[in-house]
Amino acid sequence: MEYAFEQITQINNSISIVEYASQYLELRQGVGRRSNEYWTPCCFHGGDINPSLSFNSEKNVYKCMGCDSKGYLINFIMQYHKLSFPKAVEHVLQLVDIDIEEKEPSKIMDFLYKSNIKKDPRDNLNRIYLPENIMNQYTNKPIKEWLTEGMSQEILDKYEVRYDEKSNAIVFPIKDVEHKILAIKARTLYQNYQDLGIAKYIYYNSIGTNDFLFGLNQNMKNIKLKNEVIVVEAEKGVMILDSFGFDNVVSISTKIMTQKQVELLLSLKCNIIFAFDKDVAEKELYKIITPFSLFTNVQYVYDKDNLLKSKDSPYDKGIEIWQNLFNNYKYKIRE
Ligand SMILES: [Zn+2]
Repeated sequence: MEYAFEQITQINNSISIVEYASQYLELRQGVGRRSNEYWTPCCFHGGDINPSLSFNSEKNVYKCMGCDSKGYLINFIMQYHKLSFPKAVEHVLQLVDIDIEEKEPSKIMDFLYKSNIKKDPRDNLNRIYLPENIMNQYTNKPIKEWLTEGMSQEILDKYEVRYDEKSNAIVFPIKDVEHKILAIKARTLYQNYQDLGIAKYIYYNSIGTNDFLFGLNQNMKNIKLKNEVIVVEAEKGVMILDSFGFDNVVSISTKIMTQKQVELLLSLKCNIIFAFDKDVAEKELYKIITPFSLFTNVQYVYDKDNLLKSKDSPYDKGIEIWQNLFNNYKYKIRE
């Protein structure tokens, strides 16, 4: 197996080299500014009386002042146990739980960046999660505005949709795949929200970046089972389609996918069907999803016969039109 550079780095940093080496060697910690260094007589060159082999806990590397031994964790394991590179990697992978197969080689991402995928510098921000019970402060009552749009109460409960009395808004949590709450999204119920200067949808706290797919935490099992994921733009689409009986849907919460969302989608290793809003032109759609076709089966739902209005989402006109679109207006990317 070939490993991408990032994967090797990940493996090299997965275990503290100091802890690993101290299973076999007697290490003495440096003092003061050198307290991140651990010294021992070198086991790689003969007759070393003074400690000349050092391990750096900060950089996770080793180096000998006497012979030319140096490197990262994998190098140390190769040298100490006299193992080949693949065997040393295997050895580490047996000790730590890294799912190395899941990560797509960096080549894929490079390719995707070149084709319309937004690279977001904030992608690696440190998340602050909201308390698990945060939704309890909102009222759990039937949301008639959404129930009349075809959503069922069961589905509203599944996505934890509540009512916020203070701001007269429908609220629901945005969760990551580990079911941690990243944010609360609110849809105002004031009819005249534009006059009031309120946005239709807001996040109650800063979301930072779209490094999630709404619905993935609830629908991961169904997606794996069906080997297929349907991708829509809005969170509401996930709930409406779920009410229509499509329980393998996620939303990107925006029109432009971020790097993390692409990674998440590819990591599902299943067929992908994009069902974006009508205002995304076919040519535009093509640009966004063609790169995916290199790695998996990709299809897109496109309203060629104007069953929808110009800004509609494919599920806006009810279950029958959706089913018609899904069954008869689904296209493959041409080779
Ligand atoms: Zn040495």
